Amino acid sequence: MARASVIIRACETYDVPRIRTIVREALQHLGLRPRGRTLVKPNLVASGPLFPHAYTRPEFMQGVLHALADVNDGEVTRLGIGERCGITVPTRYAFKNAGYYDLKKTFPSLLFHHFDEETQVEIPLSHPDRLRDTLFTPRPVAEADFFVNCPKFKAHPWTTVTFSMKNYIGIQDDRHRLIDHDHQLNAKVADLQYIVQPQFIAIDAITAGEGRMLTPIPFDLGLVIMGNNQVAFDAVCCHIIGQDPLEVEHIRLAHERGFGPIRLDDIDISGDVDLEAAQVRAEGFRKGLIRVEDYFAGTNIRAYGGRPPSETHDYCWGGCPGALEEAIEVLRVFDTTCDDKIPPVHIVFGEVDRPIDAKPGEKVVFMGDCATYDGDIAGQSVQIRSRYVDRSAKNPTEARHEDIFRKMLKVGANMWWNRNKDVLVVKGCPVSVAEQVLTLVNLGGLKNPYLDPRLSVDFVNCYLSSQTKTAIRRMAGERYNTVGPFDRGEARPKALTSGR
Ligand code: SF4
Repeated sequence: MARASVIIRACETYDVPRIRTIVREALQHLGLRPRGRTLVKPNLVASGPLFPHAYTRPEFMQGVLHALADVNDGEVTRLGIGERCGITVPTRYAFKNAGYYDLKKTFPSLLFHHFDEETQVEIPLSHPDRLRDTLFTPRPVAEADFFVNCPKFKAHPWTTVTFSMKNYIGIQDDRHRLIDHDHQLNAKVADLQYIVQPQFIAIDAITAGEGRMLTPIPFDLGLVIMGNNQVAFDAVCCHIIGQDPLEVEHIRLAHERGFGPIRLDDIDISGDVDLEAAQVRAEGFRKGLIRVEDYFAGTNIRAYGGRPPSETHDYCWGGCPGALEEAIEVLRVFDTTCDDKIPPVHIVFGEVDRPIDAKPGEKVVFMGDCATYDGDIAGQSVQIRSRYVDRSAKNPTEARHEDIFRKMLKVGANMWWNRNKDVLVVKGCPVSVAEQVLTLVNLGGLKNPYLDPRLSVDFVNCYLSSQTKTAIRRMAGERYNTVGPFDRGEARPKALTSGR
């Protein structure tokens, strides 16, 4: 196995020729050439002018594709970009708003894999600490011969940071992505590493994202960082922002499971920016992982982060509380006065045994299946029983997808049904960002961002296009959007051994 290498290069702007040169030189330095089914995975969790710093920019992707072509020895049989963007939004919409479809003009044979529309492939796991025995991933991921991870350098509310490994949350469709997306999210991300390891990583750290992941604050880092080992890569990125990689659980777990080194002495670091100079550039970079009570301090939302059903975690990093933080930031993008419009409201997560200080008439929302409470609220005795279902009882083959229109109906019906009650429960594990956005929309009488006229025409077009493709493929007899076992004889050795 090649020694883990990380290359740090200066790149102040999204200049395609410069990115192309930097990435080509890195590929040559690492002795890498794309081959066979080559798949590039960006981070397009959210895209477009309202989310300008959330995603791997198209100029960056263009530079990477040029560089791969530059070092291609004629062994590439298929070149594709694949992603599942943030849930409930069709990936077609994310590709379109990110300007990715325009890449087809430069690379006519480029394929776009919308992972929410692909056949899902079952990958068996056998390591001792796995959360479950199988994981599902879209077929293009399982089949990839040369996998290139192209994440965005960002902070993250659930996992502190999102660099290379965390980008893997987008190699699952919605049904499977939401399973274990709770206090075990870091363990899930570590398990996803068994599906495939990238031969090459190139992160868009030109304009990095501070503080959060859907609406990050731009941070001019001016770097392109590349490497050949995901753990080593993430460890170096952590050091750049002054974060101990061992304290980021998914990085530590992947390291402990043998996916790569974490000590700087075991990693070759090269490039025209040394680690110390990169650290100077990153001074003051704000990470994620802020408790929900602190995040909403000074607003009309009083949050209570209780204990999830876990013997190892006393807070649900990875689940509902962080989703509320992302939800309010999405609403702030669409309405800068939304905080003033939301009336005093109490939002409760997990098992809370401290008083809930609601005044008569103030809404109290118990968010998520594990919310539990037994006490007085505004002079009334209230008991909320946990609906939490242990992960061992959740069967991924029975997971169902809920699109945004179904979620709108579900949340709207729940809020209408409970409109005269001060205490209400929102079910789910997790309750997604979209559902929490819709809950706040109802509580505050806010504009629904999913119906914003600036977006809705494109959104509905992409949604209908996705639905139409589904129908056509089904009529053609393709296994479309279905879950089924893969030909493991072909996929598993690739999936479990490449790059390790
Ligand atoms: S319901 Fe929400 S807070 Fe509770 S365990 Fe699930 S994701 Fe975490």
